[in-house]
Amino acid sequence: MDEALRKIARMLVESLHAVALTGAGVSTESGLPDFRSRGGLWQDQDAVRLLSLEVLYGDPLRFYSRGLHLLRTFRGRSPNAAHRALARLEEMGLLKCVITQNIDGLHQAAGSQNVLEIHGHLRTASCLVCRRVFPFDFLEESVSAGRIPPECPACGGTMRPDVVFFGDPMAPDFERAVEECSRSDFMLVVGSSLQVAPAAYLPGLVPRIAIVNLEPTAYDDAAEAVIHGKAGTVLTELVRVVEELAGRPETTTER
Ligand code: NAD
Repeated sequence: MDEALRKIARMLVESLHAVALTGAGVSTESGLPDFRSRGGLWQDQDAVRLLSLEVLYGDPLRFYSRGLHLLRTFRGRSPNAAHRALARLEEMGLLKCVITQNIDGLHQAAGSQNVLEIHGHLRTASCLVCRRVFPFDFLEESVSAGRIPPECPACGGTMRPDVVFFGDPMAPDFERAVEECSRSDFMLVVGSSLQVAPAAYLPGLVPRIAIVNLEPTAYDDAAEAVIHGKAGTVLTELVRVVEELAGRPETTTER
């Protein structure tokens, strides 16, 4: 891993516009299951089918009684060493942004400032009819009071979590992510199987990529460096090597 780690550190330091792309694997060390690994959410096909527009419209009772419970498990977790390392790289001026497929908000909790959430988030909910936005807790309160589906206080329309479900268009951040990737010269992919489209197309927009993931991905052959290891351990070490290369461990590297 040493050589690959040094290579990734060098690419980060030498790049002019580096971005990170993260997936569910960056949060497993915070106790959240990923999607496709053994024990991942994908194996619960019921849950996968549940989180869809089809169920939200067709069977809101099922969507809200079981689906909301599932979404709730993604809230209130603590960031881990991988999230903190990415925040540190941004603080050092070496990462322009983190593009994440995750909905758990853990990059922001770790201190990352520029986070693009291409699959949405769990901070708000919005009305399917008038599009007004309310805090996510409004859904919780309505469902616990037996008001299913939760109704918009303004127009009475059905409320939905601001998460991208199967059948949904991508979140507005996706367009910005495409722009960021188009002007990037380096992408660090962390904890994603790169099997979920269109997120999986983003690395193809960047000339140089590196991958940190427990298992092989379809992009390994296209990457200039690949480390198969735990994101928390690898990224903590990466920050150490980058700080060594930058030569100024305590200060911010501005470019
Ligand atoms: P995925 O499950 O398809 O792939 C995750 C990858 O991370 C796997 O290849 C696995 O080997 C790797 N991994 C697991 N633990 C790791 C660790 N500690 N260090 C390094 N790698 C690790 O996930 P994906 O590519 O993000 O796609 C799944 C979709 O499901 C995404 O759209 C995402 O929005 C959603 N999802 C989100 C969360 C979350 O918000 N935390 C959790 C599960 C699923």
